[in-house]
Amino acid sequence: MPDDFSAALCGLGAQVLQRDWLSANQTVFAAAGPHAPATVVDTGYARHADMTVALVHHALAGERLGRILNTHLHSDHCGGNRALQAVHPGVRTAIPVHSMAAVQAWDEQRLTYELTGQSCERFRADEALVPGSRVQLGPAWWEVHAAPGHDPDAVLLFEPQTRTLIAGDALWEDRLAIIFPELDGGDGFGATRRTLALIESLRPRCVVPGHGAPFGDVAAALAASRVRLEAFERDPARHANHAARALVMFHMLEHQRQPRDTLARWLLATPVFGMAWQVARPREAPAPWAQGLLDSLVGSGVLVAVGDDLALPTTG
Ligand SMILES: [Zn+2]
Repeated sequence: MPDDFSAALCGLGAQVLQRDWLSANQTVFAAAGPHAPATVVDTGYARHADMTVALVHHALAGERLGRILNTHLHSDHCGGNRALQAVHPGVRTAIPVHSMAAVQAWDEQRLTYELTGQSCERFRADEALVPGSRVQLGPAWWEVHAAPGHDPDAVLLFEPQTRTLIAGDALWEDRLAIIFPELDGGDGFGATRRTLALIESLRPRCVVPGHGAPFGDVAAALAASRVRLEAFERDPARHANHAARALVMFHMLEHQRQPRDTLARWLLATPVFGMAWQVARPREAPAPWAQGLLDSLVGSGVLVAVGDDLALPTTG
């Protein structure tokens, strides 16, 4: 991370714990008075929840965690909530307001875990993050903005004095996150476009993305996202194929290595792939399409065949 970002984040009482593509980054704020307890924004994937607990403990130098905030409730952003709630009794958890009912009922379909075949342990939500409101994190007040597109309920957090943005998955430096509503017949592309325009209007100086390092060249990131978005709008089948590939790779980041038959069966049994298949409208039936998808991942080198297994290249 460039030094000037570290200094700016430090001035905000924040540390960014950069994780990977299975677990989203954490932004950790030290406590700053009675209304700003020590806080973590986003908590990674369930499989690595113990690591998240340890990293947050280290970042806070043992100080008690008082609050958890989630930019959205994809499994890689809130998978550590349950473990953090268990080790920090009394911690308050704030989630995007439009996800509140789904969490209270623990509706795994609405929360997308059933859809994507991903796991997330049930957690408690205490408060809603409402777009248009503000929340004190460390010494500063942060604006809560709606950030639909990738996830219809998502929010982002913006600190206007330093123009620092915690973007969740609404903006990455050089990729564009899956636009889930488009796989389900909803308007995701338009919402994504509006959220990119909102981010542009905020003129952030430093963006803390959900994945990858903090970055400052926001114009380049917005331009790259818009190029990707236009290509997907012109050809939604391309977006559906991209989504299917990214979701297989997420599953493989979790499992590292799997028999090809097991992976193909999982893919055919997981609803999001059926939705992607319908949008992609390939000539093949789902089973050969799934096999073609796995072949294409091997062909592009992101998976390797090891006997009857498929694996990540580093573990093959
Ligand atoms: Zn996400």
